[in-house]
Amino acid sequence: MAEKPVIYSTQGAAEGPLLVIHGGAGKRRHPSTPEHQEKATAALYRALDAGMAVLSSGGEAIDAVVAAVHVLEDDPEFNAGYGATLTASAKAELDSCLMMGNGEAGAVAGVTTVRNPIDAARAVLEQTKHVLFAPPSIDELNLWEITQVPEDYFVTPLRLEQLRELQELPDGGWGHAKGHGTIGAVARDMKGNICAGTSTGGMCNQMPGRVGDTPIIGAGTYANQETVAISCTRTGEKFVQEVAGYQVHARVLWAGQTPAEAISDVLDAIEARDGNGGIICVPAQGEGIVGRNACAQMNWGYAFGDTRYAEV
Ligand code: ASP
Repeated sequence: MAEKPVIYSTQGAAEGPLLVIHGGAGKRRHPSTPEHQEKATAALYRALDAGMAVLSSGGEAIDAVVAAVHVLEDDPEFNAGYGATLTASAKAELDSCLMMGNGEAGAVAGVTTVRNPIDAARAVLEQTKHVLFAPPSIDELNLWEITQVPEDYFVTPLRLEQLRELQELPDGGWGHAKGHGTIGAVARDMKGNICAGTSTGGMCNQMPGRVGDTPIIGAGTYANQETVAISCTRTGEKFVQEVAGYQVHARVLWAGQTPAEAISDVLDAIEARDGNGGIICVPAQGEGIVGRNACAQMNWGYAFGDTRYAEV
């Protein structure tokens, strides 16, 4: 029988501003060298500082999430924005989603020129009456004043090398931890409002056009003021099949589970489908929860008050 998922909580932060972030989960350790691990840890701390600077000055959860996500999207250690994994055609196709506890949501899938995909997700949330573009046109991105870059900005030597290595493996290395490093942030602000954001390059060597759980509202990203803000990572197909984010919400709201119990059960269901990964959550009230399958390593951190914690 599979081992029970590993659950952590942000002890001491049951109310007030709270930020929890992740930098992906996977079966094997990546970043794989101490140097990469150090850089990834430093980036997690920078993201926590950026998000908490917003929250502690009375800013909104959505601004804290976007600030933390920007730091991780711009850092090549993570599979989002600059440093994203590549599709089988050696191109980056980026997905991102942002959802607030009041139900407002925006997402983009398969963008190839957006430097910070979370900005495009936010533009969908704030500037359109829609929730998902797959992908938005260049004209729409220009209209929303989104910073764009040439497609080859995303093709880093490390990700190209990983792609070539995976292409040598049986089944194209599908699900291999080399593609690990999706990022996400969930926050609660001084008013108690919650928000979730996730950003990814998807799975290394995925078929062009493939979209995982990240931009699917209710699967990889979800927020509901009655319960929790959620961001998920890893084998996206399984998180979609389990409607993971919404399932955590439903378990808390209607089955009376705590967020920790709900996350543990959802991770069990993911593993039963032969998937693995992690989930972070900030409830409207209560401590933040980070869960991962026992077989998965996870990059994550949290911040409240002057407390900062991160591990890779
Ligand atoms: N969940 C992401 C996807 O399936 C990948 C990851 O989190 O590693 O696209």
